[in-house]
Amino acid sequence: MEKGQRSQGDARRRRVQRLKKMIVLSVLIWMIFPVGLCVALFGRIKALDRQLAESQSCQQQLLEQVAAVAARQEEEALRRQEDDMEQQSSPLERQEIMVSAPVAAADGQNGDLAVVEPDAAHKVYLTFDDGPSKYTEEILDILDTYDVKATFFVLGKESEYSIEMLQEIARRGHTIGMHSYSHKYAEIYRSVEDFSADFYQIYSYILENTGIQSTCYRFPGGSSNAISDIDMHVFADFLAEQEIEYFDWNVSSGDGGSVLLDVDTLVRNATSGIPGNGTSIILMHDAASRPTTVEALPRIIENILAMEDTAILPITDNTTPVHHIK
Ligand code: ZN
Repeated sequence: MEKGQRSQGDARRRRVQRLKKMIVLSVLIWMIFPVGLCVALFGRIKALDRQLAESQSCQQQLLEQVAAVAARQEEEALRRQEDDMEQQSSPLERQEIMVSAPVAAADGQNGDLAVVEPDAAHKVYLTFDDGPSKYTEEILDILDTYDVKATFFVLGKESEYSIEMLQEIARRGHTIGMHSYSHKYAEIYRSVEDFSADFYQIYSYILENTGIQSTCYRFPGGSSNAISDIDMHVFADFLAEQEIEYFDWNVSSGDGGSVLLDVDTLVRNATSGIPGNGTSIILMHDAASRPTTVEALPRIIENILAMEDTAILPITDNTTPVHHIK
């Protein structure tokens, strides 16, 4: 009996001890688990922090790169604007010389604008915007070398040199067109009144310095420019009232962009579309920031002259215009 009671007491003690062990173990587990979890989470937070810092620095670099590109583009635009404006004195002096009724002309006043164009299947018109520039004389010499005539859509530049170049363009028999006096989009396209004032300025600038009553115009940015808030038809109608024809282009050399294109690209751009066109009006620039245009010009002309049934002509009153807006 005693023996039975002892063994019962032993068994209870063992159960109690087992229970104690289990309690201690589960307490330990419940303590270790959160600590472990905390350590793991802490590590994860650290890793995320590092990733965040890295991505922030990447983002910063990206923002800096974007800002640098934007700044470069802005500089480029400004430089081109300066090129356009170089050698130009106060336009206010010009404003006093406004012609009230400019366009009774058109009969052969612009060189020989009334000439009949030769009968070629492909007519090509080389046009140069934004001049005169330091390259004008070189361009004129190249055109002389190949005995071809072109069209210069000029700006109102008042330096002695610019006026001399303007007169030289006329003297060598090329067509002089208007490309606005100021080339400042924000001013020209602000209203019809502003456009008209600028128009008379460039019209009288050409007339006074060359005796030519220009009859053709190229809108800065083209008639399809996305800059003017006013419908471009309004300005086109104004020109039509003045009996001025405006000319866009259907072939672009691509030399007006923010990137200076190499000679091969300019030659390809300026010539590859010609065989498919009856009329090709090629956009190029006579501007101080466009040296590769001058370098490409001899090859452009040679390629065109080698094309079958193709003639290079200056714009005249008989030229079929290209309009970007209908
Ligand atoms: Zn221009």
